Amino acid sequence: WISNESFLGDFGMGGLHMKVGGYVVSSKIFSESLYAERGVDWLIGAHVSKVESGKVEYELLDGSKGEETFDFAMLIPPFAGVGLKAFAKDGSDITGTVFAPNGFMKVDANYNAGAYENWKASDWPRTYQNPTYKNMFACGIAFAPPHIISKPMSSPNGTPINPTPPRTGMPSGIIGKAVAHSVCDLITKGDGAHLHEASMAEMGAACVASAGKGLFTGTAAAMTVYPVVPDFEKYPGTGRDTDYTFGEIGLAGHWIKHILHHLFIYKAKLKAGWTLIPE
Ligand SMILES: Cc1cc2nc3c(=O)[nH]c(=O)nc-3n(C[C@H](O)[C@H](O)[C@H](O)COP(=O)(O)OP(=O)(O)OC[C@H]3O[C@@H](n4cnc5c(N)ncnc54)[C@H](O)[C@@H]3O)c2cc1C
Repeated sequence: WISNESFLGDFGMGGLHMKVGGYVVSSKIFSESLYAERGVDWLIGAHVSKVESGKVEYELLDGSKGEETFDFAMLIPPFAGVGLKAFAKDGSDITGTVFAPNGFMKVDANYNAGAYENWKASDWPRTYQNPTYKNMFACGIAFAPPHIISKPMSSPNGTPINPTPPRTGMPSGIIGKAVAHSVCDLITKGDGAHLHEASMAEMGAACVASAGKGLFTGTAAAMTVYPVVPDFEKYPGTGRDTDYTFGEIGLAGHWIKHILHHLFIYKAKLKAGWTLIPE
């Protein structure tokens, strides 16, 4: 396992503290235990600089370089927008107005938050509307986050090594729904319509990570986190509400994953009652 997280269990969210069996446990201990129990070695704080057949080269946060061999690999590329170009009616290039340099669309986020110490939960967008073009919205993975969530890190060589903020299925779905409602209201009620809001700093997310298949032998780690973006003003200390931030691993998680799999495919097909199935 090779990751740009500065510690295992950062998850691009600066880690989390969750209730497990009545105790508050850091996601670092939770993840390291899972990996150790399954014999998975990890390399963290690693920036993959080159991929060749059967070999990756990487740089670590301490500036050292190394390589790892593999038979089979799944590499998630650095997160960036699709690189769309935008032009105004007169043909002038407005790409810089619509999109951030990373290719994601600018929305109602605070892009001038400055240094890590100044970051606030309120930097995160609420309506996902482009500040210049009010008829443009970006939801899910497409919006430009105000900044990352984890503490920014770089190697002594100046290579930034950071995980991207997660915009996983559940937040993407919830944001998509809010934006769809806003677009409907703008059409039916006119320009003055109140926009629907779905800030990742006020929204929880659940994640079920499969750790083995099997009707009676399967396991999955089920986690909830609230809110996704930590709010240290509202929840001093961990930045999250530990009543709604918990994790568990076991057979029940596997069953939940299995049930959700069928429910979401059913929902995606818009079959009878699909609106009753939550994001
Ligand atoms: C390997 C992997 C595992 C993951 N596992 C989980 C998980 O277990 N649980 C979880 O909650 N999340 C998971 N995620 C994250 C989740 O899949 C994404 O966050 C979510 O799909 C984002 O939804 P979205 O609708 O914003 O973007 P996408 O699902 O990426 O949809 C964007 C769509 O736009 C289309 N598109 C792009 N360019 C154009 C264009 N020019 N014109 C028209 N269409 C275009 C693309 O083809 C794509 O269909 C995982 C992601 C990855 C990569």
